[in-house]
Amino acid sequence: MEKPLSSAQWTKQIINQHEIDKYLINGCDFVSESEIILHLKQNSHTSSQQIHDILQKSLAIQNLSPAETAALLNVTSAELWEKIFETALAVKRKVYDNRIVFFAPLYASNLCVNNCAYCGFRSENNLEVRRMLTSQEIISETQAILQEGHKRVVMVVGEHQNTAIEYLCEAIKAAYSVEYKSIKTGCVSRIRRVNVNAAPMDIGDLKRLKEAGIGTYQVFQETYHHQTYQEIHPANTVKGNYRWRLYAHHRALEAGLDDVAIGALFGLYDWRFEVMGLVYHALDLERQFGIGPHTISFPRLNPALGSELSIKSPWQVSDADFKKLVAVLRLAVPTAGLIITAREKAELKKEVIQVGCTQTDASTRIGIGSYSKDDKVKHLDSEQFVLGDSRNLDELIQEMIQQGNIPSFCTAGYRCGRTGETIMGMLSKCDEGKFCKLNAVLTFREYLNDFASDSTRILGESILQKEMASIETMAYFKNKPHLLQKFHRDYSELLNGKRDVYI
Ligand code: SAM
Ligand code: SF4
Repeated sequence: MEKPLSSAQWTKQIINQHEIDKYLINGCDFVSESEIILHLKQNSHTSSQQIHDILQKSLAIQNLSPAETAALLNVTSAELWEKIFETALAVKRKVYDNRIVFFAPLYASNLCVNNCAYCGFRSENNLEVRRMLTSQEIISETQAILQEGHKRVVMVVGEHQNTAIEYLCEAIKAAYSVEYKSIKTGCVSRIRRVNVNAAPMDIGDLKRLKEAGIGTYQVFQETYHHQTYQEIHPANTVKGNYRWRLYAHHRALEAGLDDVAIGALFGLYDWRFEVMGLVYHALDLERQFGIGPHTISFPRLNPALGSELSIKSPWQVSDADFKKLVAVLRLAVPTAGLIITAREKAELKKEVIQVGCTQTDASTRIGIGSYSKDDKVKHLDSEQFVLGDSRNLDELIQEMIQQGNIPSFCTAGYRCGRTGETIMGMLSKCDEGKFCKLNAVLTFREYLNDFASDSTRILGESILQKEMASIETMAYFKNKPHLLQKFHRDYSELLNGKRDVYI
């Protein structure tokens, strides 16, 4: 392994000030703390009628303003919160229908030059055993992930010169190259969408990521609060530059990567402030590029090896507040997908999915190389944090079905060019949910045949038949007979052993 550059040398090489300054307005970034605090103060006693009006605006699939978001965040009545939860689910159903999309994170490397106080991968954590997977190891990990039935992964790496753009492109290529033959049917499946969660890059590297064929580019701001950000990300590290991170998605959109994902690590600062930060972020992307975030993530701080902050933060978010913040995000940015991860415990995850989440991970392993290890032992010395939910995909699918959701492995959107403005347009007209229902049924059919346990298959058949009957009566398809014809043809072909058909 090459001798790593020092953090200072790396920072100098990575950060291009011009690719920050061009997005500023009068030299300021879009997170005005005084404005956020004022909104939270001025909207602390909104009448119940006004809250109902705000909910109606969300139901009309319009973004909420910062003031409206602040009003929801300040609600104190338990009765109104119930109404908020109910409306959040209604908005989700209107935009995305009852689909829940599954993915698996693929942790490729824990090498990192940064020193984020909350993370097990931070450079000063000597308890962490450092490892970066070779292409062959990525292939083994992908095999193990495919064996569960997954079709999409999020490739995750720390920030390090050895795992920068060259490495990432090779890793993505390796993941896409793998073929897995189902033991049940002999049918071949592949990973169809590799998303990436990696450090902010410059526009040149982001163009290369696009060429590598990624789906979504995901970067979490961690905290939008400037001072807190500086306290937990040392200034002499790349990550110590708040604005380099804040404008990562702007650069991605400029590079033509038009599915971008934002997020905040809840538990570092006041959760209401972070929700406001996410809303300002979504609004600025729309203002500057006409495209909002494809997804929003809201990881909560989990205990991490060698990180005192991860267990002692004064800003830990309670389960009750967590549910509220997810519901408000659903209402404030109605077109964004919402991702809940295996950081959360099973019971809470089950509850929070029903206030508007659209994606979740399953069979999750976050140790480097731990999917392909035979043992089920946790690899704490190479994990980023401790997981809350270790259930496998089959178990989670049963739960989703029992909740009235249809599991989906659809990756058609970006493969058919339905990204960026196109997908945003479809989402805001509430067309996407109906259209993608077809792909949800097709991909779930594949899963049931190729991977499901006997009990999941029995449960799955019943929801599949119900969904297929509902498709026949949906007004949306009435004047689109070609879509239904293709759907029926694809469905029959799947039953005859063809795979990877989509609309
Ligand atoms: N190194 C890249 C970066 O920082 O952008 C990649 C991401 S990191 C491996 C993935 C995300 O995990 C971080 O952005 C952070 O939000 C989250 N994370 C870090 N430490 C965590 C912890 N203790 N609990 C929960 N999530 C954590
Ligand atoms: Fe490195 Fe990312 Fe962890 Fe920070 S959050 S220490 S940048 S892996």
